[in-house]
Amino acid sequence: MTARSTRPVELDAVIVGAGFSGLYMLHRLRALGMRARVVEAGAGVGGTWYWNRYPGARCDSDSVEYSYSFSKELEQEWRWTERFATQPEILRYLEHVADRFDLRSDIQLATPIVSASFDDEENRWVLESELGERFTATFCIMATGCLSTWRIPEIAGQSTFQGASYHTGSWPHEGVDFTGKRVGVIGTGSSGIQSIPIIAEQAKELYVFQRTPNFSVPARNAPLTEEYQAHVRSTYGELRAKARASSGGLGAFELMGAGSALERTAAERDEIYERAWAKGGALFLGSFGDLVVNEESNKTARDFIHRKIRQIVRDPKTAEALLPDDHPLGTKRICVDTDYYATFNRPNVTLVDLRRSPISEITPSGIKTGGADGEEYPVDCIVYATGFDAMTGALLRIDIRGREDRALRDEWEGGPRTYLGLMCAGFPNLFTVTGPGSPSVLSNMTTSIEQHVEWISDCIAHMRAGGFDRIEPTVEAQDDWVEHVNDVAHMTLYPKAKSWYVGANVPGKPQVFMPYVGGVGAYRAKCTEIAERGYTGFVLRGEERRSKGRPRRDARSERASRSSG
Ligand code: FAD
Ligand code: NAP
Repeated sequence: MTARSTRPVELDAVIVGAGFSGLYMLHRLRALGMRARVVEAGAGVGGTWYWNRYPGARCDSDSVEYSYSFSKELEQEWRWTERFATQPEILRYLEHVADRFDLRSDIQLATPIVSASFDDEENRWVLESELGERFTATFCIMATGCLSTWRIPEIAGQSTFQGASYHTGSWPHEGVDFTGKRVGVIGTGSSGIQSIPIIAEQAKELYVFQRTPNFSVPARNAPLTEEYQAHVRSTYGELRAKARASSGGLGAFELMGAGSALERTAAERDEIYERAWAKGGALFLGSFGDLVVNEESNKTARDFIHRKIRQIVRDPKTAEALLPDDHPLGTKRICVDTDYYATFNRPNVTLVDLRRSPISEITPSGIKTGGADGEEYPVDCIVYATGFDAMTGALLRIDIRGREDRALRDEWEGGPRTYLGLMCAGFPNLFTVTGPGSPSVLSNMTTSIEQHVEWISDCIAHMRAGGFDRIEPTVEAQDDWVEHVNDVAHMTLYPKAKSWYVGANVPGKPQVFMPYVGGVGAYRAKCTEIAERGYTGFVLRGEERRSKGRPRRDARSERASRSSG
């Protein structure tokens, strides 16, 4: 019997994705006594940390903060071994969470969802998997990830390549041994920059194909001492509270230099940049308060990093090619590395500057740049570190249909439109965890994920307690939020970069700044206020009947309160 002919699985809530978001979502909905199930495309839990097994993969938020805060017991029990945990360690953590909270019995693996349609009459979502299995539920929660749809760019001749090809976001579980191999890595974003130094240690010859140089700062990764861990464990509450109120979702974040970089002398500035460089990690962006809003300040940080690259990389031509110069620091996700720039001093590593001569084709035995008289680089393996169809990719791969059969793909033709990154008008009872229009990828994501999961489960609890069976944002509230997200982004330097934040890495994708740059603390306060005021900007079915007499805020006052967020 085929899966299609079987009866649909009837649930109260279906959650798509078993990463940090989906696991916690399941835990919360179970606590409400709901019949909930996670459906996951992969053959294991962990999401990002299940798929991205490339050499050198690790987090760049401090491990002690890149973790759940919802269980004090879990916080106290778990031991992170390094400042920035490796992929296997984070995966072990998420597997431990699945076991510790007994989640696995409600997680269905190897189940890619291809469609989700809202049945208006039944007030239920109907999801279908690739194999035709169906799930119906009142609530559908997309925990599908912002960086889960990996992509390989189309390059002529790709299918003729005789060697092995890999993408960092879908790495073989058994690992890859590059010993004695000639390897080409295409892409120098965070994934490329983490993997290149390690591949270089193994490979006979490594060619790094760089289209755009990125800013990278040293990780200064190190084992965590028992004293430090004990300190964190005894002050975890404080650290998490700071993270929730902060701009970037990190409690340990501190501005090294208050005010503008331009208020300091060159020597004072450099002293602060040196300290930030020595401390390591993406917090370099916190050297001064105005680096992402003031282009002149930003240039001082850029110049500092340029000097560092020139000091580290011995060949002046290679050093010049590595200098990022097409976007302000931080407007593309800053990379965090271990020995990335120094890797170009190795005799077996060659930087291929695609700005001088782009890749023209992949041949059976290598990668060719330039025109007919271009150069061919012979390789046995190609590593695509070419990134993701970020933020909207996983959602739009699913054929999502809301009321009146409207397709999310059509609604988002000009770019994503959401209210708070949590819901979309026309798609009742469909929630997105870290959806576009929320801080998501501009923050330490575990902080943002927990906030979204808690807001969604509190909302569902509120509905169940009040007898509401449907929630959906108004078009006006959504339009205002989209405008606000856009306005705030344009107060910063972020839109100046051709980044994946604006969809510039995917040909044909509408270019709209997708995450909310207003900061985790302010955003969180806004979401809480909206819920406390009876879910302003949302329509709850049953509201008219149940809340007669409750003062309703008009669109203008909603707008005013949103723009203050
Ligand atoms: P994911 O972990 O992406 O999980 C989504 C899951 O949904 C996936 O398992 C996917 O298979 C599944 N799914 C998607 N579509 C479907 C479908 N149609 N049907 C069924 N299942 C589906 N963030 C930080 O804050 N700090 C870091 O240091 C950091 N490091 C990162 C390193 C790498 C290499 C990458 C790629 C991302 C990193 N991120 C980091 C971002 C990271 O994605 C988030 O921190 C977090 O792991 C996201 O969790 P999630 O559950 O929301 O999504
Ligand atoms: P990415 O930042 O989008 O980088 C992709 C790289 O591939 C870029 O250098 C891009 O060049 C290049 N590229 C794409 N298409 C190309 C083509 N046709 N020809 C040549 N080059 C091409 O992707 P990523 O490195 O996977 O990182 C994505 C995000 O995941 C990060 O920003 C971060 O949020 C997260 N991540 C975090 C970590 C961590 O340290 N914790 C590690 C990995 C990933 P252009 O810039 O010219 O487009």
